[in-house]
Amino acid sequence: ADLVDGADGEPEGLVPAPVLAVVGRPNVGKSTLVNRLLGRREAVVQDIPGVTRDRIAYDALWNGRRFTLVDTGGWEPDAKGLQASVAAQAEMAMQTADAVLLVVDASVGATTTDEAVARVLRRGDVPVMLCATKADDDRLTSDIAALWRLGLGEPHPVSGLHGRGSGDLLDRILDILPESPRDLGFGAPGGPRRVALVGKPNVGKSSLLNRVSGEVRSVVHEVAGTTVDPVDSLVELDGEVWRFVDTAGLRKRVNTASGMEYYASLRTKAAIEAAEVAVVLIDAGEPIAEQDQRVITMVEEAGRALVLVFNKWDLVDEDRRLAMKRELERDLVRVRWAERVNISALTGRSVTKIAPSLRTALASWDRRVPTGRLNGWLSEVVAATPPPVRGGKQPKILFATQAATRPPTFVLFTSGFLEAGYRRFLERRLREEFGFTGSPIRMSIRVRE
Ligand code: GDP
Ligand code: GDP
Repeated sequence: ADLVDGADGEPEGLVPAPVLAVVGRPNVGKSTLVNRLLGRREAVVQDIPGVTRDRIAYDALWNGRRFTLVDTGGWEPDAKGLQASVAAQAEMAMQTADAVLLVVDASVGATTTDEAVARVLRRGDVPVMLCATKADDDRLTSDIAALWRLGLGEPHPVSGLHGRGSGDLLDRILDILPESPRDLGFGAPGGPRRVALVGKPNVGKSSLLNRVSGEVRSVVHEVAGTTVDPVDSLVELDGEVWRFVDTAGLRKRVNTASGMEYYASLRTKAAIEAAEVAVVLIDAGEPIAEQDQRVITMVEEAGRALVLVFNKWDLVDEDRRLAMKRELERDLVRVRWAERVNISALTGRSVTKIAPSLRTALASWDRRVPTGRLNGWLSEVVAATPPPVRGGKQPKILFATQAATRPPTFVLFTSGFLEAGYRRFLERRLREEFGFTGSPIRMSIRVRE
């Protein structure tokens, strides 16, 4: 009953899959090929070049391996001309995909646009594969061999229309595609997860640390291979060992002196930076203070997971409880996504309940939404509530990807500016759909002019 938001449970099917982006000039046969690779009978190909399809990321399965196929065929060529737009498409694919498939029309051969795109792709460090479509029969063999000069290795002949060569192509794709998507966030060095215990002076940080440190010494030796920085503490909570970072200052009491507050704020910042998740301790017996808000803001800005822990619950009576409800609505709405735990470090009440909230927050912080699911969800939301028209133009959201975890970071590629209000709307809907309880999320917009 102490938790707001509740533990919302893991949404199903959120296992990360690597992303293959299919790039190439319009009309080379990308969409036909994508449909073939997906094993669809009915092609959703339009014969009008540059038609924006509403869904461009698909979940694919081949030989028991899942991956996401992104069809860039739906991105309209823009005013800057074909070559610039296809090159931009390739750049974007390299930023977001785990491998790229460049599609060239075998019946046409390599055009200057194909060469420009190949140049862009050769510069990046994402694996690239070249395929030549419309190779319906053997007639084009020598034209296909000429594609070696694009410098992307062997050109794989395929006919999207008839399916010729598509099984081989899928085998080769799995060869170059990594098992799991790359992560642009920073990796955890393993071992116990790192927790920052922060909050304004006198909220009860050292009391809580002492309360949970009872078993530290016995536990230290059991965690094989962990070298614990002497400023950190290993703490067992709810059957799991956690590393509370930068706790040296909490153990030895420093006297209040001038400059103390500044020093404390630097230390708070350092602890948050060193941690994966922050426990922000708040004195439940007093009104929520400006200083509490500042600590929460630090956590948000550092992009760390967050659990709000209200301490001194033993001092809370009915009046205080009601007052707090109003303060929460007024002062902490922006972190409505964070779970709250009410404890008393003095009596030990509910102290172990911090652990499940830490786990939930970290799971959200680590979570990746597969590109296919993300875009499926996005196209539904945008269809129901399109972005507001600006300057007579309707901005289009072309594609979204989760570029990083820790914290979850989303990149939206759009054809125009999205207002702050609409961005907040999308973030709210994203949380409604995928959860992310306990973690800040970031959303950045890339406008393709
Ligand atoms: P995209 O713009 O690159 O996505 O190209 P589409 O998939 O829309 O295909 C463009 C045109 O080429 C369509 O008329 C297709 O029917 C045709 N096409 C695509 N793949 C093949 C193929 O393997 N063989 C032949 N003969 N035509 C194809
Ligand atoms: P810190 O500055 O955040 O490390 O706070 P301390 O742990 O030193 O606690 C400040 C004061 O609050 C001390 O007098 C503690 O005894 C008291 N205190 C800490 N936790 C609780 C609690 O849960 N209930 C009550 N009533 N007092 C507490």
